[in-house]
Amino acid sequence: MTLNPVLRIDTQMIETIHAHQNVSAGRAREMARDALGRVGIPSPDERLLAYPHQFSGGMRQRVAIAIALLNKPDLIICDEPTTALDVTIQEQILCEMQTLCRETGTALIWITHDLSVVAGLADSICVMYAGKIVENGSISDVLDRPRHPYTVGLIGSIPSRNTRGQPLAQIPGSTPSLLNLGAGCAFRTRCERASGECEKDPVLTKRNGRSVRCFHPVAES
Ligand code: SF4
Repeated sequence: MTLNPVLRIDTQMIETIHAHQNVSAGRAREMARDALGRVGIPSPDERLLAYPHQFSGGMRQRVAIAIALLNKPDLIICDEPTTALDVTIQEQILCEMQTLCRETGTALIWITHDLSVVAGLADSICVMYAGKIVENGSISDVLDRPRHPYTVGLIGSIPSRNTRGQPLAQIPGSTPSLLNLGAGCAFRTRCERASGECEKDPVLTKRNGRSVRCFHPVAES
């Protein structure tokens, strides 16, 4: 969610409440103040009167989370919400988001390129490549025993203390243009397990609680 830079926080929060709930202006202000307090914004009565530029990046992200929770949604979709924040603030926001969602029963879809974020936050993971889910399962299954070659490459390219001094591993090639994907597995030009069969489209196949879209997945261990 993006905050409007020219509107005070109270205006934006109260508008959001009134878009879905028929409550008085006074009640909406109370709800907005409580929501700011819940996401750890100090002096929420004062901060309601501030503009977005008067908050740090981390605080703006908290305000956005407070607004997202105002109308008690069943599901929140967060697309790279903490990417621009430093690691410490990112960690705090992740923990708070997780706690708030557990308390309110809200489901959370967190879109990120950072596997360490996913490992600490999620119950299950969908790995996507070229707009399609290529692997899906529990966090421990997918991160500890990846089966799709793209997931294997992603995990293999995470820098590790054990490989200090060695060149970083990387997946060869680059992501194809979604405008010109053609038929077959979209990963085949970068995949060391590719065969002639991969010129057909693989389907997402479910087995033992996890799904993989690949003709030659890594064997289950
Ligand atoms: S379907 Fe073929 S090209 Fe695609 S990931 Fe599997 S092995 Fe590699």
